Amino acid sequence: MTTTTELPIIGHWIDGARAASKSGRTAPVYNPATGHESAYVALADAGEIDAAIASAQRGYETWSGFSIAKRQSVLFAFRELLNARKSELAEIISGEHGKVLSDAAGEIARGQEVVELATGFAHLTKGAFNENASTGVDVFSFKQPLGVVGIVSPFNFPAMVPMWFFPVAIAAGNAVVLKPSEKDPSAALWLAELWKEAGLPDGVFTVLQGDKLAVDGLLTDERVQAISFVGSTPIAKYIYETASQHGKRVQALGGAKNHMLVLPDADLDIVADQAVNAGYGAAGERCMAISVVLVVDGQLPPGTVRRGGPDGSVADELIARITERIADLRIGAGTSTPEPDLGPLISAPHRDKVSGYVDIAEADGAKIVVDGRGFSVPGCESGFFFGPTLIDDLPTTSRAYTEEIFGPVLQVVRVSSYDEGVELINSGAFGNGTAIFTNDGGAARRFQHEVQVGMIGVNVPIPVPVAYHSFGGWKASLFGDSKAYGVQGFDFFTREKVVTSRWSDPATHGGINLGFPQND
Ligand code: NAD
Repeated sequence: MTTTTELPIIGHWIDGARAASKSGRTAPVYNPATGHESAYVALADAGEIDAAIASAQRGYETWSGFSIAKRQSVLFAFRELLNARKSELAEIISGEHGKVLSDAAGEIARGQEVVELATGFAHLTKGAFNENASTGVDVFSFKQPLGVVGIVSPFNFPAMVPMWFFPVAIAAGNAVVLKPSEKDPSAALWLAELWKEAGLPDGVFTVLQGDKLAVDGLLTDERVQAISFVGSTPIAKYIYETASQHGKRVQALGGAKNHMLVLPDADLDIVADQAVNAGYGAAGERCMAISVVLVVDGQLPPGTVRRGGPDGSVADELIARITERIADLRIGAGTSTPEPDLGPLISAPHRDKVSGYVDIAEADGAKIVVDGRGFSVPGCESGFFFGPTLIDDLPTTSRAYTEEIFGPVLQVVRVSSYDEGVELINSGAFGNGTAIFTNDGGAARRFQHEVQVGMIGVNVPIPVPVAYHSFGGWKASLFGDSKAYGVQGFDFFTREKVVTSRWSDPATHGGINLGFPQND
């Protein structure tokens, strides 16, 4: 679209400096709490895409020549600056994304863990050496960076998701072109300025604002060696296929529909607390949010203080306890004081999509226990708010069950056994995260073995792995062979050479022998 107001235009970061938009193409950026436009973001054209990649190529040539010690000192400086100034970043995130400030601070803290991991990259990129592998022959391996790598990120974690990749990529000696979500583009620029202050050479961290045109530029340009993508499943699949066809290394993380399996022996107050935290935190806009509470239904143990339905079932009781907790949740602008529990959704179309899924559930026969449709916050009537919603008796054939909703909507599905629960989880399209809630260690151990999901919690509802393990799902939640960060992250952003060397003694080197080399 063409910009017609006086609002600022958020541009790129190229060659170590802010670069104003030249394309004339922009998209609006909103404050989701007010529903008003706060800025426009530049949408790169072919010339800007080329300038960004060319600058990154130059940055790579400089940076990959830096010693480990010099690279380490820049990473430590970046970590210190981030730690000291992260509240500024949280404000930026909250303003464009809408999440509450403490949640924004939480995503930065998890990203910072990856920066801290990356400061120890010398260990994680070490090669190996075997002396005398064959008589008089030594063999060793070492790792080199790939070159220019592209990162394409989603709206829901404008700082953490890029930080799953760029600290590792940069530590390993690559140059990064980051294409942030056009919905919350400012966090990336703040991070770029921080890198500059930390002493990173120009061109090693580039921010290219844009839409499909910018992404396609990264996917097809032969100077880009690898793509790390996070977003919805249809786009992740497209990214994987297109980048692979262009000979690139690619990891493309997609959507999710995460289930929490509740066994009848679980502590229902803990389950209710965790279901509310994991279902409604960040207004459900988390790829590791819990969407479905699968309750293995049965009678409550004798002596339970009941708040639930008349038959005293575990599911009725759990629904009653979740409903009580929803009534206490405070919803409002992420930056308001006192801080609310959850903020708005990212956009009006997304809010309407979430609302549409609740309509579908209702039409398919589900019971809407708590209805967040049409919710508004006094003083923020134009904001993109959606109230916490609780759905019971949702048929598992409903699109509201099979598809990702990405909003504050918890669905309760009753199953008659553990096996039925695991079967449902394993028959879904996604395999990002899941959790089991129980006091039965044997059942939990069986669950972690049998469930077809990449990240599993045992009495932990959002099992995002720590930085020294790797993050990634199975099935339609990850296209490619490599997860984010941890050892797999360093493997993704490096390639190995193996050297076989001999310093021959002219007297005994063996002379002419055209046979295939044998080891002895
Ligand atoms: P999205 O797929 O709409 O966009 C992600 C990125 O792709 C953005 O930068 C966007 O500009 C770009 N893009 C969009 N359409 C494109 C196209 N046709 N061609 C090329 N590029 C395109 O996702 P979103 O709405 O920003 O984020 C929410 C989604 O991300 C959810 O599905 C969520 O589950 C997923 N997600 C997954 C993880 C994970 O770890 N698996 C983490 C966070 C978010």
